Amino acid sequence: MFDSLSEGLQSAFKSLRGKGKLTEGNMREGLDIVQRSLLEADVSYPVVQEFMGHVNERAMGKKVLLSLRPEEELVRIVHSELVSILGPVDPSIHLKKEGPTIIMLCGLQGSGKTTTCGKLSQLLKEQNITPTLVAADLQRPAAIEQLKVVGEQVGVPVYTEPDNKNPVEVCKNGVAKAKADGSRVVILDTAGRLAIDEELMGELQRIDNKVGPDQVYLVVDGMTGQDAVNSADAFNKALELDGVIMTKLDGDARGGALLSVKHVTGVPIKFIGTGEHLDALEPFRPEGMAGRILQMGDIVAAAAEAHRIVDDKEREELEAKMASGDFTLDDFKNMMEKVARPGLMGRMMSLMPGMGQFKEALESDEAAGGIRQTIGAINSMTAEERRTPKLIDAARRTRIAKGAGVQTPLISQLIKQFEIMKPLMQNMAGGSVMDRAKMMQQ
Ligand code: GDP
Repeated sequence: MFDSLSEGLQSAFKSLRGKGKLTEGNMREGLDIVQRSLLEADVSYPVVQEFMGHVNERAMGKKVLLSLRPEEELVRIVHSELVSILGPVDPSIHLKKEGPTIIMLCGLQGSGKTTTCGKLSQLLKEQNITPTLVAADLQRPAAIEQLKVVGEQVGVPVYTEPDNKNPVEVCKNGVAKAKADGSRVVILDTAGRLAIDEELMGELQRIDNKVGPDQVYLVVDGMTGQDAVNSADAFNKALELDGVIMTKLDGDARGGALLSVKHVTGVPIKFIGTGEHLDALEPFRPEGMAGRILQMGDIVAAAAEAHRIVDDKEREELEAKMASGDFTLDDFKNMMEKVARPGLMGRMMSLMPGMGQFKEALESDEAAGGIRQTIGAINSMTAEERRTPKLIDAARRTRIAKGAGVQTPLISQLIKQFEIMKPLMQNMAGGSVMDRAKMMQQ
């Protein structure tokens, strides 16, 4: 049994590659493994049938069997079918021109609603919009407190009425307050239950009717497989959903649920949650997701992630420093600190084509320890040494190593690496766009 859709499909393609010449006979065998891995990854039967129908038809065509690399052709076919079954999508939050746009988040308890409130707020703040969060989960005693913490982390106001037991009133009052404050967006964090029940659906329908949200998003936990599909079906029948946000698609989540949820609800998947941190929310793109499922990487998401870590102004400053050769160990340390955020390197690697295999190595304690040691070593240097590493002789190396609690050769190695890296960076930053394009092709 495969843990993820991705693993199953990889195994199908591997077995096809081992067959030498691809024939109609062994292509069928490969397609059977594709089908099995879809079913094992919680893709529901009708979706698998529809999917395999298209893939079979295209894969058995003479053109594929006669092509130079038939298994690559098959990967392409599976990729394009995944894209068409996952799309079309619309990842934008449609904001009204006037008055606050009300977004209602609903979903089972633990699906990630409160966390997603924070993530959406962060996304909006990056667009210079400060939303108001409304704590309408009056079921879970700690929910109000949790939303307050999230609001504080992102720096957005949270409307609460700890003594009011009526969620409709809290939502109405929250929206009125947001309107008075001139907020452009209000996000309602509603209550969940451990399982679907009528009381919950009744409560959500009342909020929907009386408060009139502009958009209702369902938050589903991507790790729960078929349960996610069943709950999505129930919520979709009770409420008119405008979009789905699937969380916990980091780690070993079975991407299969995504296909089924899209199929049963028919509403677009808006965003996916890829971690516990408040910056781990991505607009959903079927091409990227298909690439990830097939372990082909997702270069667009990787670029977006990189953009978030270093903003335009910082990048320009950094490039100017590199071009003029002013890039110091301090700048190097700043860069290391940015990429050393927990989970970030692994996430980046899994998005880069062909680099997924390094994800675990980079997320290991050893890798994190290595980065910490380097940062520690630079911290032990004086400002002058950071600017001019040539000053660091044997005596200074010993002092720095002692201060950072590392072995002396590590300091020599760090300085050597930095000296090699600096002219390379200068070349890259100083060259024209064409030169850089050429360098990347080499
Ligand atoms: P709620 O009951 O629906 O409000 O769920 P919470 O927002 O409290 O989330 C439940 C748990 O899931 C928390 O421990 C979150 O940190 C975690 N969580 C939420 N989204 C993600 C995600 O995208 N990835 C991972 N790994 N964990 C998540």
